[in-house]
Amino acid sequence: MTRTTRMSGSRAAKALAALALTALAATACGKEGSPPVKGPSPDQLPKYQLAQGFQLPDSATWKKAKKRGRLVVGAKEDQPYLGEKDPATGRYSGFDIEIAKMISASLGFDPKTIEFKTIASANRETALQNGQIDYYVGTYTINDNRKKLVGFGGPYYMAGQGLLVNKDDDEINGPQDLDGKKVCSAAGSTPYQRIQADYPKAVLVAYDTYSICVDNLLTYQVDAVTTDDAILQGYAAKVPDELKLVGKPFSKEPYGIGVPRNDNALRFAVDDALAEHEKNGDWKKAYDVTLGLSGVPAPEPPAIDRYPAS
Ligand code: GLU
Repeated sequence: MTRTTRMSGSRAAKALAALALTALAATACGKEGSPPVKGPSPDQLPKYQLAQGFQLPDSATWKKAKKRGRLVVGAKEDQPYLGEKDPATGRYSGFDIEIAKMISASLGFDPKTIEFKTIASANRETALQNGQIDYYVGTYTINDNRKKLVGFGGPYYMAGQGLLVNKDDDEINGPQDLDGKKVCSAAGSTPYQRIQADYPKAVLVAYDTYSICVDNLLTYQVDAVTTDDAILQGYAAKVPDELKLVGKPFSKEPYGIGVPRNDNALRFAVDDALAEHEKNGDWKKAYDVTLGLSGVPAPEPPAIDRYPAS
């Protein structure tokens, strides 16, 4: 018997939901008829005060951007409430995007002029190393391995690894239940690495993006999707009748702003900017109209690291 003939009514509905998510992910094609990105209209978003006459002569990245006339920022485009690209307008939105914009304003660049570039989890370090982007804001966990390759401002948010399953699944309630299960995550991500190291009996499946994993979950090609709870909450909020998060977060994922490894001047300026926007209320305003929409009230932002130059 094939999977199609076995498909129940509810599974067929899920397959349709998967198609909807696929359409949402197919942003690069600017597909007509894709569901609109949920969230505030641009005029409801906070406005960040543009720093006048700001200079950062010790930062090679900043000087290059100044010459170019705008910042180039790496981001995600398929993570609801965090980093999403509207297929119709090409506009990026979400909490990570707001963080990128507030920092841009503090660095003296009008946030409207930012050129966003979608960069997948596995390609972030290379993009920063070869100058493809000036900084990166996209659910990017700070850790010591990555610090050997890039620098991190922040953290600006604390996430934790979670599990997303189909609503009718009553077998998976936490990472301890993953033996023999197909678990999907993004290549090059910390959640992927953690399953590989700590739950070796899980059958790992890797794609470039989590939205492809979610499509595979909705069509029962995989049993679970694992990544940060903040990301999973967004997918679950899109199809609340189909998907649920299970268990408690089983890691700490402090989100940082990735900068080129040797550009300490830029890293410290990013930290200063973040501190200022946390203090003046911009951080909370931005959270409330983006990630806050997935149902979790604004937490206190984590303490900024500002680790010494090395
Ligand atoms: N925060 C995790 C990481 O940086 C997972 C999310 C992502 O892949 O962007 O690897």
